Amino acid sequence: MADLNTDVRYLKGIGEKKALALNKLGVFSLYDLISFFPRKYEDRSHICPIAMTMDGENACIQALVADTPRLNHIRRGMDIVKLRAVDDSGAVDITFFNQSYAKDNLCRGESYNFFGRIEFKCGRRTMVNPVYEAADRAGQVTGRIVPVYRLSAGLNQRGLMQAVRQGLDSCLDTLPEVLPEEVRRRCRLAQVRYAYENIHFPPDFEALELARRRMIFEELFVLSCALGRMRGERSRDEGIRLKARDMEDFWSSLPFSPTGAQRRAVSEAVNDMCSGAVMSRLIQGDVGSGKTLVAAALLWLCAENGYMSAFMAPTEILAQQHYDTLSSMLAHFGLRVGKLTGSMSTKDKRLIKDKLRLGELDVIVGTHALFSQDVEYKKLALVVTDEQHRFGVNQRSALIGKGARPHVLVMSATPIPRTLALIIYGDLDISIIDELPPGRQKVDTFAVDESYRARLNGFIRKQVLEGRQVFVVCPMVEENEELNIKLKSAQEHAAQLSNLFPDLKVACVHGKMKAKDKDAAMSDFVSGDTDILVATTVIEVGVDVPNASLMVVENAERFGLSQLHQLRGRVGRGRHKSYCILVSDNDSPEVKARLGILCKTGDGFKISEEDLRLRGPGDFFGSRQHGLPEMHVADLGANVNVLQLAQDESRRLLEADPQLERPEHRLLRERVDKLYEANSKGFN
Ligand code: ADP
Ligand code: MG
Repeated sequence: MADLNTDVRYLKGIGEKKALALNKLGVFSLYDLISFFPRKYEDRSHICPIAMTMDGENACIQALVADTPRLNHIRRGMDIVKLRAVDDSGAVDITFFNQSYAKDNLCRGESYNFFGRIEFKCGRRTMVNPVYEAADRAGQVTGRIVPVYRLSAGLNQRGLMQAVRQGLDSCLDTLPEVLPEEVRRRCRLAQVRYAYENIHFPPDFEALELARRRMIFEELFVLSCALGRMRGERSRDEGIRLKARDMEDFWSSLPFSPTGAQRRAVSEAVNDMCSGAVMSRLIQGDVGSGKTLVAAALLWLCAENGYMSAFMAPTEILAQQHYDTLSSMLAHFGLRVGKLTGSMSTKDKRLIKDKLRLGELDVIVGTHALFSQDVEYKKLALVVTDEQHRFGVNQRSALIGKGARPHVLVMSATPIPRTLALIIYGDLDISIIDELPPGRQKVDTFAVDESYRARLNGFIRKQVLEGRQVFVVCPMVEENEELNIKLKSAQEHAAQLSNLFPDLKVACVHGKMKAKDKDAAMSDFVSGDTDILVATTVIEVGVDVPNASLMVVENAERFGLSQLHQLRGRVGRGRHKSYCILVSDNDSPEVKARLGILCKTGDGFKISEEDLRLRGPGDFFGSRQHGLPEMHVADLGANVNVLQLAQDESRRLLEADPQLERPEHRLLRERVDKLYEANSKGFN
């Protein structure tokens, strides 16, 4: 009856050395140990007649040792033990390297279970270093489904299995149930004891599935409760209370009318900002859905209330673009719009900073520079961040340091399925813009291979002759790739195109360039000086070049679907018919299927769902960019149904008991607190 917080080193059967090895795996307490779930399982439950075993496959056999095991010293530090084992159907030659004790463990005439890889050599079956146990006492490492764990130096599978077994034995009877009984029953989830036992040592795969489902639920449920409680707490944080205005005054200044989705997003945000609580809202909208306009409406509302607001873009070039757009949109109302970026001269920066401090601007557009230490704001009510930005804890506290806590609006152009958005942006409220402005033309998309190269080049020339501009994107250099291989390909490709089109202006932008040179090259393209821009994915986010009508993506198989969709969104932004050509010589069915999806649909949400389905969430989100705690069993992409269930249940629970104060929720509350503590950095 051990306490779950007991240090593993004090557990029966686990010594100092083993404890240290476990610590390396992040296992410190008894609870960690039993929650250290297998990485996979090996089905050794089926005993195979020797004659039926296949070359190169793992097999579990039951066989009699037919001769006395022979020990040979091949050379210094190399012992081998050889023996021959037989069953009714055939024989196998077994060799152990550097396990001289096998000679004494295995006795002629006795029966054992062996598990290992069968290889055919010179017409005979062989096995090297199999795991084994006496047939009449089998059931630990053979004749069953065996868990396979992640290991560290100083531990082997058997040792880890034993440690987990010890751990389970010492606490299984007293394991506390975290899930409220009602939830567990309603969702038909296995009991805690059953789940822990069977996720490690399942007698069959049905039992394993039951155990896993419960564990996945538990993990997602605790996470949902943690996020839900944060949302609840945040909504009690006091914010600047704005007075609502008739938004028609703003809308009517536009040359077009806003879409229904834009209106909805704006009114949701307005409600937040007029509620007295701090707004933390995410606007999710496909490329080209008009997020900038939504922001502009809110900037206007702040100014009408006599407050300043800030708009932050991820790059200098985007900051410039937004500055231009917002200035002209808001000029109509006489708003004073300023710009602050890192590349500005010290003198210009000084000027702007003075204005910010004195409250002589209504809107400030810029890059990270907006939140440098020496920037002071007078009456800042709203901070908008565009494209993928999420505020880290530090930035948020930097903002808090700048007076009353401003409202925060995050705009993202990466559509993700709603269930996932709820988890990934769990601490934000979400508005979705699922409607494109009218009259937007579909970007015709084609997947082609090298045999189309000549025609593609002809098409590029044709577009340029018609006065259009062309993007050509090459894959980015991966961090672990030899740096110059892919890098060359963007530059080389640009050189090739220059040769091919000596009369056209070809430029190249890649990640290795200085930010200043990159921006200069981009500006030339934006202003129309360059005909063809060859680039790595640096152009992925947000740049607006209405005159560009063709997007060519080289090695398209190297990109994720959502990424390709983003790239495609760079064209079709003006009134010209636009095209996207995906070049790939890879003819694997998966690649064809993936690229085919893009040719078929322009709906970013649909594409992201497919992307998630095809690639799995690991790739989808990149290296834990989402800042969520690491999941032990749950797979955010694959377990969407359980995720939905967990979210519904957590909402229900928090409605009834927002602070988890009821005695029956004490354990849950402890787990939620722990998760919150451990991850409070990542969450924000
Ligand atoms: P994104 O959501 O990708 O940031 P933008 O805000 O850059 O999209 O808008 C894309 C283009 O659509 C811009 O040129 C903008 O002026 C235009 N636009 C936005 N809303 C509307 C609308 N309701 N009707 C017509 N055009 C619109
Ligand atoms: Mg945008």
